[in-house]
Amino acid sequence: MIIAVDGPTASGKGTIAKALAAHFGLPVLDTGLLYRAVGYQTQLDHGDPDNSADALAACDFPDDLLEDPALRYESTGSLASRVSVHPAVRAALLRRQVDFANQPGGAVLDGRDIGTVIAPHADAKLFVTASAEERARRRHAEMVGRGVDISFDAVLADVHARDARDTGRAEAPLMRAPDAKLLDNTDMDRDAALAAAIAFVEERRKGRG
Ligand code: C5P
Repeated sequence: MIIAVDGPTASGKGTIAKALAAHFGLPVLDTGLLYRAVGYQTQLDHGDPDNSADALAACDFPDDLLEDPALRYESTGSLASRVSVHPAVRAALLRRQVDFANQPGGAVLDGRDIGTVIAPHADAKLFVTASAEERARRRHAEMVGRGVDISFDAVLADVHARDARDTGRAEAPLMRAPDAKLLDNTDMDRDAALAAAIAFVEERRKGRG
């Protein structure tokens, strides 16, 4: 069974993807991490993330970079969003994601274009979202909890900028696949969102027979 989980930044899609993977006993790939690695490697190489050739060269990042805690930084998320607009970068990362999705037994992948480009044939597709204000509120609380000194307005501005870049790009923009289940968790707590996601996938699994 292939499960595709897409959605905007800070929507909780990563948490939902991991919970689905644990519940259904499937491997999970956070595809955003691949774009983060490319963005971070571009910076390490003193390249320009807005330059396609520089970003493409960084697609050869070493595998152990995926373990680097710096990939989780907010600044790396912005770099990722900038390198991900280049069609050459998306093409370079495609095979790895497609192979992961199609491995025997199935998989869970989360990202922006899983249900539309990477695994359009997925058995269950979820589009996880929440209002920009709520996503910024959660991210701000999480950052403050980690001791980062940042204002809510700065986090909200970043959420808006990331949304605009991810939905506005020409290649594989963030959008809900027509057959994806919308899971808007603005007014849901984490447990309710997880329960709704699991119930939906269970339903799809039964439907498959
Ligand atoms: O999900 P995460 O915030 O880690 O993703 C970082 C950036 O990588 C996103 O803002 C998006 O621009 C890009 N991305 C993408 N396609 C994916 C996953 C992430 O373009 N499948």
